[in-house]
Amino acid sequence: MAEYNNVKSIIIVGGGTAGWMSAAILARSTEHLPCTITLVESPNIPTVGVGESTIPSFLDLLDYLKISKKDFIAYTNSTFKLGIKFIDWLKIGDQYWHPFGSIGAKIDGVSFYHHWLKSKFNCESSEFSDFSPSVALAEYGHFLAPSKSSKSILSEAAYALHLDSEKTAQYLNKYCIEKGVKHVLADVNRATLDEQGMIDRLILDSGENLVADLYIDCTGHAGLLIDKTLKVEYIDWMRYLPVDKAIVVHTDHNGPLSPYTKAKALEYGWCWNIPLRNRLGNGYVYSSKFCDDNKALESLCKNITGKVITEPRTLRFKTGKRKHFWYKNCVSVGLSSGFLEPLESTGIYLAMKSMLNLVENFPSSTYEQSLIDEYNRLMHIEFDCIRDFIVAHYCLTKRDDSDFWRSWKEREIPDSLRTKLDVFSANGQIFKNPMDLFSEESWWAVLEGMGLRPRQYLPNVDSSDYMRVRDSMQRGVMALRNAAKMAPTHAQFIDKLLK
Ligand SMILES: Cc1cc2nc3c(=O)[nH]c(=O)nc-3n(C[C@H](O)[C@H](O)[C@H](O)COP(=O)(O)OP(=O)(O)OC[C@H]3O[C@@H](n4cnc5c(N)ncnc54)[C@H](O)[C@@H]3O)c2cc1C
Repeated sequence: MAEYNNVKSIIIVGGGTAGWMSAAILARSTEHLPCTITLVESPNIPTVGVGESTIPSFLDLLDYLKISKKDFIAYTNSTFKLGIKFIDWLKIGDQYWHPFGSIGAKIDGVSFYHHWLKSKFNCESSEFSDFSPSVALAEYGHFLAPSKSSKSILSEAAYALHLDSEKTAQYLNKYCIEKGVKHVLADVNRATLDEQGMIDRLILDSGENLVADLYIDCTGHAGLLIDKTLKVEYIDWMRYLPVDKAIVVHTDHNGPLSPYTKAKALEYGWCWNIPLRNRLGNGYVYSSKFCDDNKALESLCKNITGKVITEPRTLRFKTGKRKHFWYKNCVSVGLSSGFLEPLESTGIYLAMKSMLNLVENFPSSTYEQSLIDEYNRLMHIEFDCIRDFIVAHYCLTKRDDSDFWRSWKEREIPDSLRTKLDVFSANGQIFKNPMDLFSEESWWAVLEGMGLRPRQYLPNVDSSDYMRVRDSMQRGVMALRNAAKMAPTHAQFIDKLLK
């Protein structure tokens, strides 16, 4: 057998969602290798304690970790999420859905979207999202876990979870300890570098030293290793996405459990409402240039339901990414690697993707630059694609009720997004990077929601019999609605699952 030449020891600094998720993925991925994993976290520096809405790939992660979904859902007070309902983004009073799963199915080999577009040009009333099984369920507040083997018209729905971030970290902590991860509670005072500029050791406040081959920086905004020690540049994207603060409160439950995240545009940003089984998570993400904390809290309080059960917490952030996510023998993960506002719930996904990419480009003790470059290339694509998708939610707005919304008329948008919007406006095609997290259907849902209609549909749509297509579309909408109506309520589904 060839001698094992990969790194033999890894230290993760930070015990937030990113830290424990990294530890879990590494522990699972290296379980048959002679590699020790240590997680060191400060007993004094709190985690951000937000990050409660996920996307469907989170469930793939649970499968990868061989974690029982039922067990995880029970422990973390999770609920199901079928997508996001966007309110007041195009203009006040308007709303649209970005659902998970497919929206319609190809007809005669051509994307459903283009057939639907033709029907719109022929003055049909059905909206694009009416063809989404996830929206059909969400509109009724119902839920059914889709099964690919079932013949149900709802089987193309997809879902993610809303979860309690603190309980998720606790759950993963327990998982990691069982997998042999060593847990150290200590403040890391600083790190030292060797003569090649690699991290040599961590010096704890106690004076004790910790040494490993590979270091994972999960210290959140502090960026203790990637920023303070290795001084890797942070690429600022505030000119594209100007929100820089959030105020967060939890409220108690006082109504039915929505199977979706709500994202409502407010005067200076937007607020979220995330339902868990025991409480609601709420936050207002805003631009401090236009709005102070008191005003933000006042607006948030007008957009929550239930009694406030936590002190309001204010968080500051700077949108952007690291120039190198992996540099020398240090990989930054989570908030230390970059930040994109949580409009599409991508923070946890990015942390997970960082680790899965690391596992695929796992270094040997010589740290081949080709693997580091490939890792960085993949992570830049992830960040850039998500950035463009988030900017697309704002830049088409017709709102002009505040300086914040008016500022979008003048704001620069990334060239990659400009190309995408131009191609889409011409013929409805999505000029897509194959690695874009978001599918064409996601782009179509958001661009249609934001009022951008292409000038024409694809010509090959005309080779289908329009009346046949129109009739089958009308029958499809009715069938989806009827099936969704018969499904259990979200609460009934969870009660039965956890019984
Ligand atoms: C307002 C807001 C809302 C969000 N909503 C979502 C969402 O809905 N969905 C989603 O996917 N993502 C969301 N995110 C992103 C998500 O919260 C983060 O990706 C996730 O929490 C990861 O944070 P982290 O672990 O990197 O950092 P943190 O939670 O800040 O953890 C940092 C850790 O490092 C430790 N540490 C720091 N310095 C030291 C030191 N010197 N020595 C030892 N330990 C140290 C701390 O003790 C802590 O354990 C949101 C983010 C924000 C700001």
